[in-house]
Amino acid sequence: MKILAVSDKIEERLYNASAASAFADVDLVLSCGDLPAYYLEYLVSTLNKPLYYVFGNHEPAYDQDGRRTQEIPGCVNLDGRVVNVKGLLIAGLEGSIRYRPDGEYQYTEEEMLWKIVRILPQLIWNRITRGRYLDILVTHAPPAGIHDAADRCHQGFRQYIWFMERFKPRYLIHGHTHMYMPNQKRQTKYKDTEVVNAYGYVVLDVEPAK
Ligand SMILES: [Zn+2]
Repeated sequence: MKILAVSDKIEERLYNASAASAFADVDLVLSCGDLPAYYLEYLVSTLNKPLYYVFGNHEPAYDQDGRRTQEIPGCVNLDGRVVNVKGLLIAGLEGSIRYRPDGEYQYTEEEMLWKIVRILPQLIWNRITRGRYLDILVTHAPPAGIHDAADRCHQGFRQYIWFMERFKPRYLIHGHTHMYMPNQKRQTKYKDTEVVNAYGYVVLDVEPAK
């Protein structure tokens, strides 16, 4: 199964009429946030594949009447949800670490823990019925110490480290960390999980679970 993951930056290769043929083999699109709604709508209508997203810290989206919205037409908001897409078990957690007291789409470690607690019943249900908790965790921010940075805004979540140790997803796909250096790491293995920075875009070949 081919997954196209996008984040943080509009890519000319995707925002382009030839994207439909260039990315025809993609089965599923995942967005890790900080992208405008019109870009995601463009991807979903051009590629004509399901698109699941989480918001980054630089949202919100607005609907056609200029009202704030949690929903992007044709796409599915994955925050706080656990879904089964063609046999892949996928969950999403939006936002970044809290760096402003009143900032939206920002969470303290404790607030993020509560977001995880709320999806716990579905993770346990997956374990009972499917033999595993989760295949892919989609986030905006990275885990603490992996692909993150020293400044408060770009620090990763310690909760995501705990999540990987406890629930062993095969992938944690995130954004938020921009990639400017040619030698910057896009993928890092942590225990059972491949941590992937989707900045711009990345295509992953994910085998369905046995
Ligand atoms: Zn961000």
